[in-house]
Amino acid sequence: MKKLYSLLLLTGLLWGRAASGQTTFQVDTLIKTGPLDQRVNIVFLSDGYQTAQLPQFVNDVRGVAAGLFAQSPFREYQNYFNVFAIRVPSVDAGAKHPRTAPDCTAMPAATVNNYFGSSFDQNSIHRLLVATRASAVAGVLSTHFPLYDQAFVLVNTTEYGGGGSTAYATFSINASSRETCIHEMGHSFANLADEYWAGPGYARERANQTAQTDPTLVRWAPWVGTGSVGVYPFVENPLWQRPHQNCKMRYLGSPFCNVCRETFVERIHTLVPPVQSFSPASTALSDPTAAVPFALTLLAPSPNTLRVTWQRDGAPLARNTSQVTVPLTALNTGTHVIRAEVTDTTGFSRATTHAAQHTYVTQWTVTNTATGTHLQASSFEYQLETYPNPVTDALNLSYRLSRPAPVTVTVLDEAGRRVRTVLQERAAAAGTHQWRFTAAELGLRRPGTYRLVLDIDGARVSRPLVKE
Ligand SMILES: [Zn+2]
Ligand SMILES: [Zn+2]
Repeated sequence: MKKLYSLLLLTGLLWGRAASGQTTFQVDTLIKTGPLDQRVNIVFLSDGYQTAQLPQFVNDVRGVAAGLFAQSPFREYQNYFNVFAIRVPSVDAGAKHPRTAPDCTAMPAATVNNYFGSSFDQNSIHRLLVATRASAVAGVLSTHFPLYDQAFVLVNTTEYGGGGSTAYATFSINASSRETCIHEMGHSFANLADEYWAGPGYARERANQTAQTDPTLVRWAPWVGTGSVGVYPFVENPLWQRPHQNCKMRYLGSPFCNVCRETFVERIHTLVPPVQSFSPASTALSDPTAAVPFALTLLAPSPNTLRVTWQRDGAPLARNTSQVTVPLTALNTGTHVIRAEVTDTTGFSRATTHAAQHTYVTQWTVTNTATGTHLQASSFEYQLETYPNPVTDALNLSYRLSRPAPVTVTVLDEAGRRVRTVLQERAAAAGTHQWRFTAAELGLRRPGTYRLVLDIDGARVSRPLVKE
């Protein structure tokens, strides 16, 4: 699904002996909810733990994971995650402390020989604790766990500190530092901005940061007025706005705001679709009187917010079940379509208007002829992001196809008349497609309300478009 490694290969890497004489570390599986290629894999590496302290490292990771999954949205989506710990021993215990920061605490200076070079005082900030040997982190990950989605270096010191990079985050075992770990996931996993003012070098358009000041136009407009979400200028630079005054992306110990929580959920779905598999696969059916079971294997959050709707030739067939049975005798000669659509109706996503939400479609085309019955299965997902809406400059659209399929994008006016066919592909290739259309390309010449219609292999979705 998301990545193309075989499980066998990975198992060999996990437990085999490295051929080049390179050290092999033990990998502990702490939480395993499913196959590595169908889950978000979080991997912790130890630094500043001596060999005898490695069991303590594994216990420390268990505590951090328990803290993570006690918080939304990780609590509800725990089934989507695996957690692993790689036991990397260090010569010395603890973290380096050069005492080169002007804001150093009473922590004494220390030259510690730890494996990943974790050190306080980075960028002249005492609490900025970073595993400085980035290539060593990358090396251990690539040889021991190439399928990781999120990596952390856990440093064996009770002094408060941590920090993130694009590749991994570092934090200490201090109780507050655990919160750093979750905050850092906001950056590296969900691409969220800090909601404190981190400086002009970090200011750019993100899910939780914008230069837009109009509450009806901001990226998080569907959330404005809920859970204290608004449009709050940074005091330090009022050109930029944040959605909340007390989010974990600003203050450790706070929960994530609604905007950040939604971003996590959509990111989780990008990596792990809730439809894990389907059956039957494409096949010829020999028995014309058979009753065929069509089934999905679903990965449900807790509580289960997945909504499943089944259709036969466009008419409702069943809902909120993972399986329907259709007798072939009910299908007369010709072509029929059995379709299952799955969406996550979680209240954590308000994507109905700004439309980041994913929809997953599985469909079977049953062709019934005098010579026999043939069944072709396919699946695709789409994500229609109509931001900004009213459309000022552009509209983003993305979808993923399991096999080539016809795709059409049309813009209709208020009366339902076709304004423009924006995209028409008889057989769009399998894989992920991303498009960006300008208002001119969409044919939105006059102000008014339009409708964008996406048709993938006969499955249609439409969204309102406003041109001011
Ligand atoms: Zn210091
Ligand atoms: Zn936030």
